Amino acid sequence: MLPGMWTYQPRHVATQAPRYTSYPTAAEFSDAVGAADQARALAAVAPDARLSLYLHIPYCETICWYCGCNTGRANRLDRLDAYADALHAEIAVVGGRLGGRGSVDSIHFGGGSPNILPAPALAAIIAALRRRFATEPEVDVAVEVDPRSLDAAYIDGLAAAGVTRVSLGVQSFSPHVQAKINRIQPYDRVAAAVAQLRAAGIAAINFDLMYGLPGQMAADVVDTIDRAAALGPDRVAVFGYAHMPAMLPRQRMIADAALPGAVARFAQARVANQRLVELGYVAIGFDHFARPGDALARAARDGRLRRNFQGFTDDPADVLIGLGASAISDFGDVIVQNEKQAGAYRKRVMSGQLAGVRGVPRTAQDRLRGELIEALLCQGEVDVAALCRRHGQPEAALDDEIAALQPLIVDGLATVDGRRVAVPPTALPFSRLVARTFDAYRGGGPGARFSRAV
Ligand code: SF4
Repeated sequence: MLPGMWTYQPRHVATQAPRYTSYPTAAEFSDAVGAADQARALAAVAPDARLSLYLHIPYCETICWYCGCNTGRANRLDRLDAYADALHAEIAVVGGRLGGRGSVDSIHFGGGSPNILPAPALAAIIAALRRRFATEPEVDVAVEVDPRSLDAAYIDGLAAAGVTRVSLGVQSFSPHVQAKINRIQPYDRVAAAVAQLRAAGIAAINFDLMYGLPGQMAADVVDTIDRAAALGPDRVAVFGYAHMPAMLPRQRMIADAALPGAVARFAQARVANQRLVELGYVAIGFDHFARPGDALARAARDGRLRRNFQGFTDDPADVLIGLGASAISDFGDVIVQNEKQAGAYRKRVMSGQLAGVRGVPRTAQDRLRGELIEALLCQGEVDVAALCRRHGQPEAALDDEIAALQPLIVDGLATVDGRRVAVPPTALPFSRLVARTFDAYRGGGPGARFSRAV
């Protein structure tokens, strides 16, 4: 077995756990937090704070049935124009409140499909961000794109606007899987997009792939990975499909019977891990892979890997500012989410208001547990006693949680040495279960509102 390859633990393959892109998680958000908290938090941003900006574009040309994102069909160009106007208004409001405090070294456009905006509109938004925020000259600008609607002219527009990294939604190259998820995407289209991106000078390319899709088999996953790797992406993320049709009506188009069972699903995740490691990628966290020289792989090697709303990242920002409908800002002591509905979001920002409508304060206890969970997921180990000391807590503050790890230790998914807790590299897909033991809101119990950990 090569380093980084996963073990199989059948008793836990169907267990649910949060993804822990934040702690507390979005399940703890409420309307007790809103625009007033957002205003206070923006006023408290330190002049030397490192900022990361996330902009949400909640529109796509067509809707994939598996999609769990806040997005809808754009249908009309005037709707996109109106949304771009709203983003400009919010950029002016938030940038004005910061008054040049903090410096931005990372900008990320997600969605939805940000490339549904015309390239000049995207360029104008990037220019507005540079005007309204103190932005580092070498700022990273990453854009998630739908390769089905990407051509050479658009890519030239991205390059001219200063885009440095592009994430291509690929999911699966298997035609029979594509038909079952309403996402027909020929391989040649993706290959052409990659060639055009490189020709335009955008060399940093990520692929997003999926397992656990309807009709998908382990052989489909391997075939997709082989064909994806032939195009040479620097980073590959492999996400498990989270089937939650009660919460996401569009997923009702996917028949439960077409989905692989828990064991088959784990086999797909495992085979994806094995194949990517065989092909020379470094496994990062439980769902990311990167070429050894990539910044994400270097961050993992140097213990600088972080986790935020985009997943595993090398972004060291102190403050994450979300712009756009449903975007989330993380100020350290409070997390604030913008209004989700694009129309209501637009009304708020066009009248000069901040768009935050829900969120959660982060207490001192949350900070301790959040840092512990992030360390477990990103570094695979944590010295709980040292962490408690740093947070002004007794070294024994989390001894009950450490004791509760016993069943996971017996199954080889965690180790404890004194108060040092670790997840063996072979058990990485189960690290969310280890993290959950320290989640005060879950009490270590099964999180029925969350997707499967694998
Ligand atoms: S293109 Fe992406 S964001 Fe849009 S529906 Fe499909 S998966 Fe969701």
